[in-house]
Amino acid sequence: MNERYSRQILFPGIGQEGQERLLASRVLLVGCGALGASHAEMLARAGVGKLRIVDRDFVEYTNLQRQTLFKESDAQDRVPKAAAAKQRIAEINSEIEVEAIVADVNNSNVESLIDNCDVVIDGSDNFQVRYLVNDACLKHDRPWIYGAAVSGYGTTMTVIPGESPCLRCIFEEMPDAGSSPTCDTAGVIMPIISSISAVQVAEALKLLTGQRGEMHHSLMQIDVWRNEWRKIKLAEPNQDCVACRKRKFEFLDAESQEFAAVLCGRNAVQVAPPRPVKLDLEELADRLCYTSAVNYNEYLVRFPIDVYEMTVFVDGRAIVKGTDDISVARSLYAKYIGT
Ligand SMILES: [Zn+2]
Repeated sequence: MNERYSRQILFPGIGQEGQERLLASRVLLVGCGALGASHAEMLARAGVGKLRIVDRDFVEYTNLQRQTLFKESDAQDRVPKAAAAKQRIAEINSEIEVEAIVADVNNSNVESLIDNCDVVIDGSDNFQVRYLVNDACLKHDRPWIYGAAVSGYGTTMTVIPGESPCLRCIFEEMPDAGSSPTCDTAGVIMPIISSISAVQVAEALKLLTGQRGEMHHSLMQIDVWRNEWRKIKLAEPNQDCVACRKRKFEFLDAESQEFAAVLCGRNAVQVAPPRPVKLDLEELADRLCYTSAVNYNEYLVRFPIDVYEMTVFVDGRAIVKGTDDISVARSLYAKYIGT
């Protein structure tokens, strides 16, 4: 062990004791896309003893430009990302244990997913999951590290229940569906993935080795294209916060969930946002036209995605044709509409 981790043990911030603590730790990675794959690789190389990786997608060719754990054969065989990550990590560090879970993170499983984990790292691609993770981690007193990246910019913040503001202290309401750019509509470059994931993993290493004094205690925003690095110092938790102060976990409550249902006999799934929105269909069509052949009128936008077809209505509802799998439909919705 000492040879493999010798350079990390030499680093005064980790040392022999820190290394032993890492080996005895368990981390949940929520999502194994670009950020998640990067978290997984760094934590595996650092010797974090147990990684639980949950992701609902399979590897696609469009991922290979930035999702470092995956290779062409994974895309060719459409291997689920969690499984492909487990396989690759076994080649990188066979001494650690990886639990690969191919699933959609939702309010029925999020609490059991964080169970026994020392830290939760966000590598998801949507706010629905982040608000859910925020609720579950507050309820079970688990630190979690928010991270998001799109285009050339990204944001990260660490939430320590009872000590620091939570996601809802900072962003009280979840952004409306369809209101934010996504990597599948606005694009993304790998340097921002590397930057945000690096800050997240450094925070995780500090947490796992018990060095909270070294953490950045801020909402950190990075734009690698415009050369802007900003740290907004975090104050105390918001006294009126619904989640961390009043302990009302609205996203764990089934009724606040995004609704998805199989449309019987139609090989289609309907996805609806958690609250009604009024989409600007022309703007949505504009955003999508770079990646797809889009049809739109004042009522709907329709476009093909691989073997599927999505039709989006002005109230934010979408029908995904070509599947009866709810997690496939939710994943496409998060990627192309954004939640
Ligand atoms: Zn809060």
